[in-house]
Amino acid sequence: MKAFQLVEWQQPAQLHDVPVPEPRPGQVLIKVGGAGACHSDLHLLEAPAPPNPVPLPFTLGHENAGWVEKLGPGVSGFAIGDPVIVYGPWGCGLCMNCRQGMENYCQAPGGAQPGGLRGNDGGMAEYLLVPFTRFLIPLGSLDPRVAAPLTDAGLTSYHAVKRSLPLLGAGSTAVVIGAGGLGQMAIQILRALTGATIVAVDTSADKLEMAKKFGADEGLISGDDAVRRVKDITGGQGAEVVLDLVAVTPTLAMAAQMARVLGHLTIVGVGTSTLPVNFQSPPHECAVAAPFWGSIPELIEVVALAQAGKISMLVEHFPLDRAAEAYQLLHHGKINGRAVITPNG
Ligand code: NAD
Ligand code: ZN
Ligand code: ZN
Repeated sequence: MKAFQLVEWQQPAQLHDVPVPEPRPGQVLIKVGGAGACHSDLHLLEAPAPPNPVPLPFTLGHENAGWVEKLGPGVSGFAIGDPVIVYGPWGCGLCMNCRQGMENYCQAPGGAQPGGLRGNDGGMAEYLLVPFTRFLIPLGSLDPRVAAPLTDAGLTSYHAVKRSLPLLGAGSTAVVIGAGGLGQMAIQILRALTGATIVAVDTSADKLEMAKKFGADEGLISGDDAVRRVKDITGGQGAEVVLDLVAVTPTLAMAAQMARVLGHLTIVGVGTSTLPVNFQSPPHECAVAAPFWGSIPELIEVVALAQAGKISMLVEHFPLDRAAEAYQLLHHGKINGRAVITPNG
């Protein structure tokens, strides 16, 4: 089968012929419906080799959904053809965090080992080998080609919002910086779960238009005027929650100025910049956190929200042989929503 692989650090990924994996006991082979192209892949493709070696090549794609193709010996609970979404951060399943479903924070050495990110093969191929059935969530009537981004863009945004729910009652304000794949999801999740006024901030007017269609009350172009506007609509206090889905120096500075005393400043973007922290900034007792992905129970909740029609992702489909082009477009900010690779058409 064809697979879109990271072959060498800081080199473009390539299509390679690889064997179709054979599921061993406990494993499941998935026929890939959709594999989302996440901005984290761009960070990965552009980064130097990590300090602890990750074996190359491996197949990209950590945002996957498809249909059960083949069950390894002893596997039960799923039937051939079942539509499923794949939980991405594969943990050990045995540590305390994993046993609570938070495999994103697996305590085993090296932490979670997601397919498509850290040496294990991901979903940008016709088939994906999933090591355990606990990583499979039934999709019901949802189409895997459309649902795939729920498992990262959806789950990461959901987890980031959910941990701040006590701050987001009626009359509160939530700011979403970066209205791309994750941002679009975060806005809809805020709309579905909270009474907050939702402010989207982006450098692109097109992304802000889309953000309003997905439920943002305001769309602001990134910069000092956006800070002033957030102060205005919050009576000078700042927002209860600011999600920075970009996390470069200017957005972190903006986030610190937009957040309020006792608020949450949540860094989701994988920028390499640093947030200056001192007595004055961020505001007093504003908690800063950088959450990673989400838990298995949360993914079940995200799928339920999508099944209820409360969240949906704008997707643009690309065949496997156009995966490189999808990443180029993402790099240039030309994807509205999520590019999803569809290896099986
Ligand atoms: P994306 O490319 O789809 O969206 C990024 C958005 O940010 C775009 O709309 C872009 O116009 C906007 N943007 C860029 N610079 C900006 C600025 N200065 N001010 C305001 N907006 C700006 O990316 P994505 O797939 O949504 O990913 C967003 C970030 O989240 C990436 O850094 C990615 O690596 C990270 N991520 C983190 C986790 C996690 O677990 N923490 C999970 C998935 C993705
Ligand atoms: Zn991702
Ligand atoms: Zn673990």
